[in-house]
Amino acid sequence: MDFSLTMEQEILRTSVRQFAEKEIKPVARDLDEKEEFSYETMGKMGELGLFGMFVSEKYNGQGMDYVSYAIATEEIARVDGSHAATVAAGNSLGIGPVYYFGSEEQKQNYLPKLCSGETLWGFGLTEPNAGSDAANTQTTAVLEGDEWVINGSKIFITNASTDITAGVTALCRTGTRDDGRPELSCILIDSGTPGLETREMHGKLMWRASNTSELYFDDCRVPRENLLGPRGHGFYQMMQTLDGGRLSIGAMGLGGAQGCFDLALKYSREREQFGQPISNFQVNAFKLADMSLEIECARLLLYKACWLRDNDKPFSKEAAMAKLHCSEVMYRCANHSVQLHGGYGLMKEYDVERFYRDQKLLEIGEGTSEVQRIVIAKLIGAL
Ligand SMILES: Cc1cc2nc3c(=O)[nH]c(=O)nc-3n(C[C@H](O)[C@H](O)[C@H](O)COP(=O)(O)OP(=O)(O)OC[C@H]3O[C@@H](n4cnc5c(N)ncnc54)[C@H](O)[C@@H]3O)c2cc1C
Repeated sequence: MDFSLTMEQEILRTSVRQFAEKEIKPVARDLDEKEEFSYETMGKMGELGLFGMFVSEKYNGQGMDYVSYAIATEEIARVDGSHAATVAAGNSLGIGPVYYFGSEEQKQNYLPKLCSGETLWGFGLTEPNAGSDAANTQTTAVLEGDEWVINGSKIFITNASTDITAGVTALCRTGTRDDGRPELSCILIDSGTPGLETREMHGKLMWRASNTSELYFDDCRVPRENLLGPRGHGFYQMMQTLDGGRLSIGAMGLGGAQGCFDLALKYSREREQFGQPISNFQVNAFKLADMSLEIECARLLLYKACWLRDNDKPFSKEAAMAKLHCSEVMYRCANHSVQLHGGYGLMKEYDVERFYRDQKLLEIGEGTSEVQRIVIAKLIGAL
């Protein structure tokens, strides 16, 4: 077995880490406080090549593998969850469906600017009454002549209402199957289409500098050709997209856990009580040892899941495991890290306070931890 990264992957890690330290770390706390999406750092992330990471160069992508994509996401998350969310959702949820299921014309039309980071795209699955039960989509799309007429709403959609959002992929009911169940299809809807209203959501606990939106469709008309792939394949496309997306959420958990550990180790060595660094007390050194162990295990699991995907092997189970485990490792690392910071860890001027809040979304977004356990239980034959 060879656990070493390629030279390209090592170089990528170094360059993204340097970028995150120099460009994101100094502004992350302030953007979080103001709940502000930064077009400046977004532009810089695009220039660095953080979008279209797994997309072929033919469409202006970076043509990298999933291990590389995970490393880049991990390094951004090590410094800030909001920016990592913009990257992870931009790649997996925004670009993914168009790249994997789009027609040649749709790819040529949308991917070049999405891959340069000039535009973003939303993934419209969740609805007010269809969260974990995503197949219960209520949004409808009715074919009238050569147009789909869309009515309904979506909620919590990342990257869907920025000034550079070019559109959204929306899961819609397009009919009824022979077995009586709803026929679900994905439709691409450009920003600015009459009948589409986007509302940015504020007041989040976490990812406060990431864009989250509600979408409303009121007789929103798009051309018939905006159907993504075959009619009736929408739910499958969304679930396939989430399999890949879970790897990036896993990378966010891993990177966030590493960030919490790095902050905790530095602080524990510097902070003195009873005349010595608090890391000298065995109870604290053991916390740091546990964090380090958990991060190492999480990294092995995530990279293995990415490797399976890169090698065209089944990876759904490992992706769900990596997403679940990495987000729970970050939960424990954030908790330990705040504990090691004492009262200061509860203050906004200490970055660990933001990590502690940002962690929670990882156990909820792209399938809650309970849903991941259901997925794993089914894949191991227990359910
Ligand atoms: C900041 C943010 C960004 C997001 N970005 C996107 C996005 O870009 N696109 C998108 O489509 N969605 C997005 N989401 C939505 C996210 O994926 C959903 O919030 C998530 O899937 C859970 O759905 P829900 O919130 O409706 O919770 P519910 O489904 O109502 O779940 C509530 C609780 O019940 C539990 N539960 C539900 N069903 C079961 C069951 N069968 N067995 C056991 N427990 C169960 C859940 O685990 C959870 O603990 C985002 C959410 C947030 C907060």
